[in-house]
Amino acid sequence: MREAIAQAPVGDEQKMEDPTTAELEIRVAKMLRKEAAVFLPSGTMCNEIALRVHCNPGEEVICHDSCHIVIAEAGGPAAMAGVMIKGLPSPSGIFTADEVQAAIHPGDVAGLGHFSRRYPPRTGLIHLENTSNAGGGTPWPMETLRSVTSLAQEHGIPTHMDGARLMNGAVALGVDIGEITQHVDSVWLDFSKGLGAPVGAVLAGSASFIDRAWRLKQQMGGSMRQSGILTAACLYALDHNVARLAEDHALAQSIAERISELPGVAEVTAPQTNLLFFNLAEGYPDVNGLVDTMREKYNIAIGGGGRRVRVVTHLDVAPADGDALVAALTAELGGQAEPEVAQTVASVASSKL
Ligand SMILES: *Cc1c(COP(=O)(O)O)cnc(C)c1O
Repeated sequence: MREAIAQAPVGDEQKMEDPTTAELEIRVAKMLRKEAAVFLPSGTMCNEIALRVHCNPGEEVICHDSCHIVIAEAGGPAAMAGVMIKGLPSPSGIFTADEVQAAIHPGDVAGLGHFSRRYPPRTGLIHLENTSNAGGGTPWPMETLRSVTSLAQEHGIPTHMDGARLMNGAVALGVDIGEITQHVDSVWLDFSKGLGAPVGAVLAGSASFIDRAWRLKQQMGGSMRQSGILTAACLYALDHNVARLAEDHALAQSIAERISELPGVAEVTAPQTNLLFFNLAEGYPDVNGLVDTMREKYNIAIGGGGRRVRVVTHLDVAPADGDALVAALTAELGGQAEPEVAQTVASVASSKL
């Protein structure tokens, strides 16, 4: 990848003169079955630009209640697009057409009473995160996706897909990524997650959607110059780092199987892609303590919050690293709960009542 970066032909992307960036945009648009695409510095900017292109201020976005635009974009949907969020609860991050139907406010539709027409915010967008991060890395099942997007079409509501880990989802389902993305109006891929590039994401949609996205890219300061040194890495990732995602999924599964019987581990998810979640059983220290111990004692990075631990496998995590993680978790969570800790947890829990 470093060599591809060094050898990339470059030019000024603001004049549409960077050949490497143009190649990436054309390739991703085709792959996602869209008319056009634009390279952006981050996935977050893809989401924020899409919200602004699709929605008017005051409109409502239907999405999962713990998706990235809700929990991790610093309030961008409110600050920049001026939208309201209608978050649907769902443990898997996937929601159904019936749930969307119940949440839609169609706006000023003839035949509705004045209160239904004028009072609620109009639904401006349906936003789908695929795979769902908080939902355990779950890919949207094709049937559910099709039913939600065809309902959106019936109502004339656009659909947008957060594809930070969409390539993982496509590999897990064993389908061509375009089969998935043909159903939504706009979609983006992150190159700096499991695909392993240092920077960047590509947002795709209709030609007019991408025209408007380009204007906002300029406005938000996301237009670059010789971005070919970045997009060369993304092209390299498409050529070398896609098929191997299955290895990350297998490793996440195997870690889940090996830790599921540990006394300190509860409710392990069955990973479908590269994310693995579990809860710390009652009587064990909270996640913050475990994260510190894992880093300081074992040089292993895990994450999470409260009592829920998150483990991510990716191209820099070898099977031997998975073994090291299992060994470290066995050392830390393989014994019985400390009675003192159990008591503290019980008293903290009861003080919260
Ligand atoms: C990481 C992530 C983003 C944001 O991508 P960046 O490139 O880090 O800005 C958006 N959505 C999901 C689901 C993510 O995991």
